[in-house]
Amino acid sequence: DYAQAENDDWFLPPEDLKILDPIGEGQFGTVFKGHLMLPDSQTHTEVAVKTLKEESSISDRDKFLAEAFTMKKFNHPHIINLLGVVQEDRKPPWIVMELAEHGELRGYLHRRGSSLTISTLLMFTEQVCSALDYLECEHKVVHRDVAARNVLVFSDVVVKLADFGLSRHIEEEGYYKASKGRLPIKWMAPESINFRRFTNASDVWMFGVCIWELFMLGVKPFRGIKNSEVISMIESGHRLELPAKMPGPLYQLIYKCWSYEPSDRPTFKSLVTSIKQLMDNYSEG
Ligand code: ADP
Repeated sequence: DYAQAENDDWFLPPEDLKILDPIGEGQFGTVFKGHLMLPDSQTHTEVAVKTLKEESSISDRDKFLAEAFTMKKFNHPHIINLLGVVQEDRKPPWIVMELAEHGELRGYLHRRGSSLTISTLLMFTEQVCSALDYLECEHKVVHRDVAARNVLVFSDVVVKLADFGLSRHIEEEGYYKASKGRLPIKWMAPESINFRRFTNASDVWMFGVCIWELFMLGVKPFRGIKNSEVISMIESGHRLELPAKMPGPLYQLIYKCWSYEPSDRPTFKSLVTSIKQLMDNYSEG
């Protein structure tokens, strides 16, 4: 039981939270902008509030809270920070998170488009990569849904990884075996598609697709192609092409993320190092 597993700081007093305009639609309900009163009772901070539809089932409620429970454990500059949960008697719970001012990465890329520099895109690449390295090394967690739609933009220089609805702690076997359900095939590694096998190496594959979307300024992968065709394309060695804005050396890195054999893919740790080197080269001109 999530409520028992956590201590007091998990719950926020309902009177401290003011709900404002809706900002998005999630799987379980609407996401609102809000104001959360700080402990000094004088100032408030802007937050995002995930709500659960009134008519949700118990199992939806559990899944909804499971995501919050997962997020609570993380503390990283490029992972959305959970502030707490509001639970009033007989009402569905609310999840309160820090607000990403500029919203979803894809929308941001569509709006800003060509005004974004290669250095900025490389910086976002490094930020997402460092968040995934943190999940792997500090928490033994696989995210399972690394995609541009799950990256939120805080400011013109900061992006954060969100949406831990599919993330799982991996047990001793070192992988997570998913049961049937809707899965993002076009982002997935072949072993995840074929055997529902999810590891940090399959997150690395997905990271490659996410960075491809970033440099394509929000174009989705394999547009207009059926999921079933994508699988056979991948099997026969086809990969996403070089985006116009992507530096060649970065493409070489993400191409390695798409190695068929999971063990041939780089680790997030080595990717962070390589991306930082690329950033240095770029800032030097
Ligand atoms: P779900 O995973 O349940 O589908 P999301 O977490 O993707 O829901 O949230 C739905 C939408 O709400 C997002 O696409 C985004 O537009 C908005 N949103 C969610 N969290 C935040 C946040 N912390 N800051 C700003 N917008 C957010």
